[in-house]
Amino acid sequence: MELAIIGGGAAGCFAAITAADLGVKVSVYEAGNMPGRKILTTGNGRCNYTTLALTPLAYNLGDEMMNAIPALEAFGLHDTLEAWKRLGIYPRLQDVYFYPASGQASSVQMALVRGMEERGVKVHNNSKASSVVKKESGEFEVTLESGYKFTCDAVIMACGGCAAPATGSDGSGIAIAQKMGHDCLKPIPALTYMTTDAEDLAALHGVRVKCNASLLQGDNFMGEQDGEVQFTRDSISGIPTFQMSWIVGRFLENGPMTLRLNLILNDPMGTQKIEEDWNGENLPHILKIQPYADEDAYISDLTERDCQWFFRYAAQNLEHTPGMTLQTLLCGVIPDKLASIVMKRAGLDARMPIGNMKGGFYYKEVRNAAIDAFSSSSQEVRGGGHAGTTSWIVPAEDWEKLFRTLTCFDFNITGTGDFEHAQVTSGGITFNQVSSATLESDLYPGLFFAGEMLDVDGPCGGYNLQWAWSSGTLAARSAAAYLKQS
Ligand SMILES: Cc1cc2nc3c(=O)[nH]c(=O)nc-3n(C[C@H](O)[C@H](O)[C@H](O)COP(=O)(O)OP(=O)(O)OC[C@H]3O[C@@H](n4cnc5c(N)ncnc54)[C@H](O)[C@@H]3O)c2cc1C
Repeated sequence: MELAIIGGGAAGCFAAITAADLGVKVSVYEAGNMPGRKILTTGNGRCNYTTLALTPLAYNLGDEMMNAIPALEAFGLHDTLEAWKRLGIYPRLQDVYFYPASGQASSVQMALVRGMEERGVKVHNNSKASSVVKKESGEFEVTLESGYKFTCDAVIMACGGCAAPATGSDGSGIAIAQKMGHDCLKPIPALTYMTTDAEDLAALHGVRVKCNASLLQGDNFMGEQDGEVQFTRDSISGIPTFQMSWIVGRFLENGPMTLRLNLILNDPMGTQKIEEDWNGENLPHILKIQPYADEDAYISDLTERDCQWFFRYAAQNLEHTPGMTLQTLLCGVIPDKLASIVMKRAGLDARMPIGNMKGGFYYKEVRNAAIDAFSSSSQEVRGGGHAGTTSWIVPAEDWEKLFRTLTCFDFNITGTGDFEHAQVTSGGITFNQVSSATLESDLYPGLFFAGEMLDVDGPCGGYNLQWAWSSGTLAARSAAAYLKQS
């Protein structure tokens, strides 16, 4: 009884090793000239192969997340770390991300190749499959692009999606499965940059800024991420935009989308500092306000809460160093190129001493009991707070203009990077005809799926390779059980 695995990527190689350990005779058919080529490019050449923060909730929403659960439960974080140690990869934990201790993705790729060799798995490189047919005998007939045909008793399709096609995953596996009658959710590029028609983008080329990024479509809040955004001449990149790019790819056709950057939402000193600053009172942990489409409502809530660190910093300078230019004030908080664009968008002169700016700051007193997102009991006064109240600083006139631009630094989003520039594929073969419990096709018993060609994708940070290991393992165990029964 022989199992053929089509696709020698992360999921296919891991499935081959698992199946061989279960006593199955396995052959891998890989389109490229070596197995695991994409692995070499992962994690900036270091391969972030799983994460301490592993949870099915991280995978993209709805059914997709639910369908990922059985595989992640069958083979989770602990299993992954142990299995990789047995293959010769000792983990190094950095923040919540696991990398091989060697710091080299090539260690992971070589461990897979070695692991297959040691278990007698036959690897056929330059063997791209073009069709899979189940014969009346119950055997599968696989045809390669070269015209060569072979039969086998069970098949795992692990051909990847469409992302980074130079590494071999060109969508041909998805096409084969679709031809066999499996439903496919349109594959779109994910974990890639966003594009915009903003005229001032080029001036931001090279800027990196830590901020809060939210994605809005009309009145709908579509997503939010904190992290470092990077600007290039023609795109907005960085982890926050990567994570939300699939939303743009899937829903932009429904209407215009705005990427809203809040450049001052989070105190660079951290939450603890903010809490201490609030009159030294031991305040309850404040819920961060989720950005939303109504700019006035968003700004009014922010004014009261999350951006206090910036107001206190600005108000202090206004009081003690009124001759400081606006440019100097801002350049202490955000990169200078970005500060220039902020001032342009706000219509404020960079060289203006902050003492000449119209308006100033007001104190707004709020009863402690009302520190909740929907407080309406606040009363505006000039001056400090008194017992039983907390004072919030609120900007007026020019300061408000500046504040609006800093918190709603908006870009009209026109699209995302293509598959060449995407790390993963969102969409693919759905679970309409595939059992999430076994990863077996409902249409063809003995045919299994693993990895990115299925409609499961996760954020950056080891989730996608973890899906490859977990789904590869579940598919291999299910295939071994199927072959044992047959
Ligand atoms: C630049 C980059 C960095 C990344 N970094 C990370 C990271 O650090 N952490 C993380 O978790 N994820 C990362 N990913 C994502 C991760 O690499 C993929 O999710 C994972 O490799 C998917 O595994 P797979 O086996 O399903 O598909 P692939 O790894 O794409 O393997 C599919 C294999 O099938 C072969 N194939 C395709 N069609 C056929 C066919 N018709 N016949 C035979 N063979 C075929 C291909 O040649 C390929 O070798 C990154 C991706 C990229 C592009």
